[in-house]
Amino acid sequence: MTNSTAELEELLMQRSLTDPQLLAAAAQAADFRILPDASVIKIGGQSVIDRGRSGLFPLLEEIVAARQQHKLLIGTGAGTRARHLYSIAAELGLPAGVLAELGSSVADQNAAILAQLLVQHGIPLVSGAGLSAVPLYLAEINAVIFSGMPPYRLWMRPAAEGVIPPYRTDAGCFLLAEQFGCRQMIFVKDENGLYTANPKTAKNATFIPKISVDEMKAKGLHDSILEFPVLDLLQNAQHIREVQVVNGLVPGNLTRALAGEHVGTLITAS
Ligand code: ADP
Ligand code: MG
Repeated sequence: MTNSTAELEELLMQRSLTDPQLLAAAAQAADFRILPDASVIKIGGQSVIDRGRSGLFPLLEEIVAARQQHKLLIGTGAGTRARHLYSIAAELGLPAGVLAELGSSVADQNAAILAQLLVQHGIPLVSGAGLSAVPLYLAEINAVIFSGMPPYRLWMRPAAEGVIPPYRTDAGCFLLAEQFGCRQMIFVKDENGLYTANPKTAKNATFIPKISVDEMKAKGLHDSILEFPVLDLLQNAQHIREVQVVNGLVPGNLTRALAGEHVGTLITAS
C-alpha cells in the first residue's frame, strides 16, 4: 500500500465523504482514460432520426465509412414520440421518474431502429452501454450503438420545477463520453450549431462558432441546443472539456468533425 493510499483510507474511515480534504485526496491520482481512442456521437432524436430516410441514410453511410478510421460509440436521442409521452404523462400528474422511464423506451426504440439499419455492417446494439460487450466490439467492429438516455429511470433527479426529466439523451451521451474518458463528444443535430436565438423561429439569429459555458449562460442561451444540465456537467468534467454540435443534415460534416475539424459550434468548459 503506498503512502497516499494509506492516507486516503484514513480520511475515508474518519471523515464525511464530502469533506474537502478527503475530496482533494481522492482526486489526486492521475486521470485514467478507459476508452481514450473512442468518439461518442449522439444522433439527435427529433432533429435527425424522426426525419427518417432523408435524415438518416446519408448519415449512416458516413458512419459506416468513418469507422474505418474511428472507434465510435453511437448514442440515440428520443425525440417527438418522447415529447408526446411526456405530454400525456405530465397531464396525468405522473412524476419525473416515470417520464424518464417512458423517455428511455423511446431512445431504446431509436437504438433498435439504427441497429437494424446497421446489421449488415456488423455494428451491434449494446444494452446500457454494456461494458461487457463494448471492448470486444470496439476492437473488432469499431462501433457500437447504445440508447442515449442515462439509466436513472425512476431515480431520475427531478428538476427544480416541473416533471420533465432534466437528464435526457444529450446528458446520457455526454456522461458516457466523460466516464470513458473518450477522445471527443459530437452532437449531431439539424442546425449548423448554436445561434444567438433558435434559428427555427428567429430569422435574424446569427451563428456562434465557439463559445464557453459561462458565455452561453451570460447570453441566456443555457437552455437552447443542448439540455441545460449538460453545461454544468461539461464545466465539471475531467476529460471532455469541449463538445461540438454539428449539422448532420449537411453531408460530410460528421466525418470532418470526427477528424477534429471545426464544422459546427464548439462549446468549451472554460
Ligand atoms: P435532439 O434531436 O438531439 O434532441 P433538439 O431538437 O433537442 O435535438 O435540439 C436541437 C434544436 O434546438 C434545433 O433544432 C433548434 O431548433 C433548437 N434550438 C433552440 N435554441 C437554439 C439556438 N440558440 N441555436 C441553435 N438551435 C437552437
Ligand atoms: Mg433534445
